[in-house]
Amino acid sequence: MTSGYPFSAVVGHDDLRLALLLNAVHPAIGGVLVRGEKGTAKSTVVRGLAALLPAVVVVEGCRFSCDPAAPDPACPDAPHDGAATTTPARLVELPVGATEDRLVGSLDLERALTAGVRAYQPGLLSAAHRGVLYVDEVNLLHDHLVDLLLDAAAMGRAHVERDGVSVSHAASFLLVGTMNPEEGELRPQLLDRFGLTVEVAAARDVAVRTEVIRRRLAFEADPSGFAARWAAEDAALVRRITTARAALPSVRLPDAEVRRIAALCASFDVDGMRADLVVARASVAHAAWRGAGEVAAQDVEAAARLALPHRRRRDPFDEPGIDEEQLQQALRDADPDPPPDDDPGGGPGSGGDPADSTADPSGTPNSGNGNTTQPAATPDPAFQARLFSVDGVGEGAPGRRSRARSGFGRTLRATRGRGHGLHLVGTLAAAAPHQLARGRSGPGIVLWRGDVRRAVREGKESNLVLFAVDASGSMAARKRMSAVTGAVVSLLLDAYQRRDKVGLVTFRGGSADLVLPPTSSVEAAVARLRRLSTGGRTPLADGLLRAHRTLATERLRDPRRRPLLVVVTDGRATVPLRADPVADAMQAAGLLAGDGVASVVVDCERGPVRLGIPARLAHALNGAHVRLDELSADHVTGVVRAARSVA
Ligand SMILES: [Zn+2]
Repeated sequence: MTSGYPFSAVVGHDDLRLALLLNAVHPAIGGVLVRGEKGTAKSTVVRGLAALLPAVVVVEGCRFSCDPAAPDPACPDAPHDGAATTTPARLVELPVGATEDRLVGSLDLERALTAGVRAYQPGLLSAAHRGVLYVDEVNLLHDHLVDLLLDAAAMGRAHVERDGVSVSHAASFLLVGTMNPEEGELRPQLLDRFGLTVEVAAARDVAVRTEVIRRRLAFEADPSGFAARWAAEDAALVRRITTARAALPSVRLPDAEVRRIAALCASFDVDGMRADLVVARASVAHAAWRGAGEVAAQDVEAAARLALPHRRRRDPFDEPGIDEEQLQQALRDADPDPPPDDDPGGGPGSGGDPADSTADPSGTPNSGNGNTTQPAATPDPAFQARLFSVDGVGEGAPGRRSRARSGFGRTLRATRGRGHGLHLVGTLAAAAPHQLARGRSGPGIVLWRGDVRRAVREGKESNLVLFAVDASGSMAARKRMSAVTGAVVSLLLDAYQRRDKVGLVTFRGGSADLVLPPTSSVEAAVARLRRLSTGGRTPLADGLLRAHRTLATERLRDPRRRPLLVVVTDGRATVPLRADPVADAMQAAGLLAGDGVASVVVDCERGPVRLGIPARLAHALNGAHVRLDELSADHVTGVVRAARSVA
């Protein structure tokens, strides 16, 4: 047997270890979401936990790990006649690219109909029953799978349903997800459904880092010897988990602590009641973990620290984590017997938006086409942006922007060719004309393999939304730039909700820059935009060429993701590539149109004398033309189809 890295030997990561142990004691807390950059030993700790979970007694031969003392009456393998046997608690990993069938299991209707056998192939949810289900990069998992996963985690059961046939089995597991926030956030609705969250980072302390290296090298040199040295400590943790589990039902939760939990959650302005329940469960588990018979203030504090940070986020661009000062204050406020000390002043909310300090109250003069650089304007408030979609039907990663063939979504028709899942009606219709020839007698229908039809489904895909933003002097009048960045932030928020990748090209002064290469992190795009400097001349043609190169590179990297180019400009091109700045820009636009890139020009031209170049640019791009003040969804209804993409 190969030895994993022992849980007890992990240095630091106290919050993470506590969060995992509390869930091991009380799985109803709802799992742990671990956030942190790569190389922070997240998975080492999670795998270490699985080794600590007490072994489970199962019915021999049951593929669904039924407990002989209380077998699942709906178990697909029932009735059970196997003997009881003991197996270690399992750690099951869900790969990011998993299909729905792999997760929940598959009902093989095709085999059922043609061969007459009942065929249910259990999925990973069943394998994880009574163990740990670990999803690395949970933020990259398709929403549909995350929903299925969290539903099963919440109900302790999995349901598989296909064409009216359904199977259900027990699936209660400790759910652990890890994610690197730099690769894109989890939607707030999904964040909220994880019981606890922990932020992990590599230690800054030299002594701690030294110890991490020392132990890691010792482990690699002799894994089993290293594990043996830590076996006693791990065994002590196993005993402590077992004891705490047994004690859990008898831990008391006094009314005063229930009120403290309610007051705490109210002060953090969380949605709904889920937070209160999670904090309550985690408080009880924490009391059981430290061997106390009753929940005390310290248990509530420890639970709140793990359960509240991800629930108080109002906006995907807020800083994660919990404000320590706010937590302490809320705990004091909620205290039934407040100590009579009062902290005067205390400077609440000193963490104001640093962007505010760059605002210039004097009203900077509109320095025309000079080469001066101005700091970024504070974006206007975001609004619900209109939907721009790429025309045609793609095959890209699931999302919410453009039409696509996919395994999800509604069924369009049956096909003999490539499709997703069985199309029952189509299959029967194909078999029906041949019944006489096949010698059918009596009820039932004679199906041959060649009758099988599959479903062609259509759903939505995500796209790459590349912004090319004009930051030149003609755009830089402060009020205008605020409106422009506000609009781009709104489009970015929209891209976030539609799970798009985004990129940002800006052009000003002498040249264009790829400020943000295509990424799933919309947060990074917003951060870049907030730091955007403006002023100088307008190299529009260069900006478009830069966008063209970026999209060409990205097409090699991710060929199925269709791009949408959003050009934000007033069209006052002043920097020529060859002779005439505007003619050069039109030529660059022709290149993009020739590649079939779908595009939208956001027209920022204002004032009494308009040259109308943005409209001409949209025409040259074979794209849509929208004025800046028409970007909001309440201004116009309907989807704007950007130019057709390569079919
Ligand atoms: Zn069973």
